[in-house]
Amino acid sequence: MSDIPRLEIKNLSRSFAGRTVVDDVSLSIMPGQVTCLLGPSGCGKSTTLRMIAGIEMQDSGEIWSDGELICNTVERIPPEGRGIGLMFQDFALFPHLTVAGNVAYGLRGRRAQTRARVEDLLAKVGMSAHIDRYPHELSGGEQQRVALARALAPRPRIMLMDEPFSGLDDRLRDEIRDETLDVLKAEGTAVLLVTHEPAEAMRMADEIALMRGGRIVQTGAPYNIYNTPIDREAAAFFSDIN
Ligand code: ADP
Ligand code: MG
Repeated sequence: MSDIPRLEIKNLSRSFAGRTVVDDVSLSIMPGQVTCLLGPSGCGKSTTLRMIAGIEMQDSGEIWSDGELICNTVERIPPEGRGIGLMFQDFALFPHLTVAGNVAYGLRGRRAQTRARVEDLLAKVGMSAHIDRYPHELSGGEQQRVALARALAPRPRIMLMDEPFSGLDDRLRDEIRDETLDVLKAEGTAVLLVTHEPAEAMRMADEIALMRGGRIVQTGAPYNIYNTPIDREAAAFFSDIN
């Protein structure tokens, strides 16, 4: 197996109006692995994700994928060329397109293969029966599944997810978390999932990167971090899990 990370960020920093919100952040993710960037609101998680996606520019640091430079402060591959899929809580489906149309949206060109890929993905997320429906005919959880299929359609090497499950009720959220993981693992996608909920990170992560005030303060397997928090603040953050 290759030991080249699917995603590697090195010393990424970003300031707004003289205030550093992402401070020297480094992490790497192997193919098929899920890393959760976990920390309280305002600690810089979304800004980190936006820099990786190419929506925000870093002040310093580098982003690599599969040994290829994606972005430093001199050179940058544009967002659409990065092989990155995005899933946000409010990343709405296109209301005027059917489920199939939404999933096919990212796939321009080879038409015959498009239909096969759309059907395969909708089967994977359990939405085959709804292929010709419109978004308003679906529940929130069903829309979320379609959004996942749509994000996966162009076979992203990396999936960036920013609190994608926060809009769902508890029972549904657990179910969709598990299904999402199954699909992403089967596709071999490296996942960086942003969350402020320790329980979500414990459930989904292979590795947790604990973030606070713009810095990653601890990285490790979920139970290592849970059992051996780096300080009182980290321990308190995890103590809410029941
Ligand atoms: P998180 O996702 O962890 O809640 P964010 O990355 O969204 O945190 O934000 C980190 C900090 O950076 C916050 O204080 C936020 O207000 C600030 N921030 C984010 N984007 C901008 C921006 N475009 N201009 C000014 N401040 C910003
Ligand atoms: Mg955020």
